[in-house]
Amino acid sequence: MRTRTKGLILNEQSVGERDRLITVLTRDRGIVRCFVRGGKSFSNKSFAATHTMCYSKMNIFVGKNSEIVDDAELIRFFSELRQDIEKLALVQYMFEIAICCIPQGLDSEKQLSLILNCMHFLSTGDRSDKFVKTVFEVRLMLSLGFVPDILYCYGCGCYEADVMYFDCQKNSIVCSSCAKEGPNMLKLSRGALTALRYIIVAEPKKIFSFNISQESLDQLSQCSEMYVLSQINKHPGTLDFYKQVCTVT
Ligand SMILES: [Zn+2]
Repeated sequence: MRTRTKGLILNEQSVGERDRLITVLTRDRGIVRCFVRGGKSFSNKSFAATHTMCYSKMNIFVGKNSEIVDDAELIRFFSELRQDIEKLALVQYMFEIAICCIPQGLDSEKQLSLILNCMHFLSTGDRSDKFVKTVFEVRLMLSLGFVPDILYCYGCGCYEADVMYFDCQKNSIVCSSCAKEGPNMLKLSRGALTALRYIIVAEPKKIFSFNISQESLDQLSQCSEMYVLSQINKHPGTLDFYKQVCTVT
């Protein structure tokens, strides 16, 4: 069987002397791994369109035990993100989370659009890296069915307070009167909670269209990261690398 799809290459590895194995987030079949036969050669017709960070159209042969790229045509290569170590590290983290969380065989249009949008905003610099990372974390989890309860305090049912907390164990918000202190409680200012609510309900095209102070973004970013880590079964090594790079730069 042969299929035609569009996909973003999230990872590539060398196989033997001539071939490469690529991991692709496809629009219609989730995460797919396929071989590029002769893919190490510059003269290979798919060479330019099958590297990490390429968004490409692909014809794929689906065999019994493996899938092989017949040919690939480049739509966009985010080469500019390779020039900035902090952005590159963030993209690698986003890719690792995507590979870890997005299942095979499912329609992944939402997730693919989200990552492409995040890469676009990282490229233009219109939003800070931390802003993009936060939106990515919240929306990716949301698209996979992990929805935090951010409407009311789970203790008293209040909607707002000057300070509320996100309880990472219960994946829910709680006000300062009801919260019991602990490492799982992350502080959320009014601004941070408003932004979190916005990211969750906004139309896909508008998820980057909000303003937030640096202090509130710092709180929200910590919260979204903890939320992702609590939903996946492994600690992403790329997150440590991203943080190291942020500290140095
Ligand atoms: Zn309460």
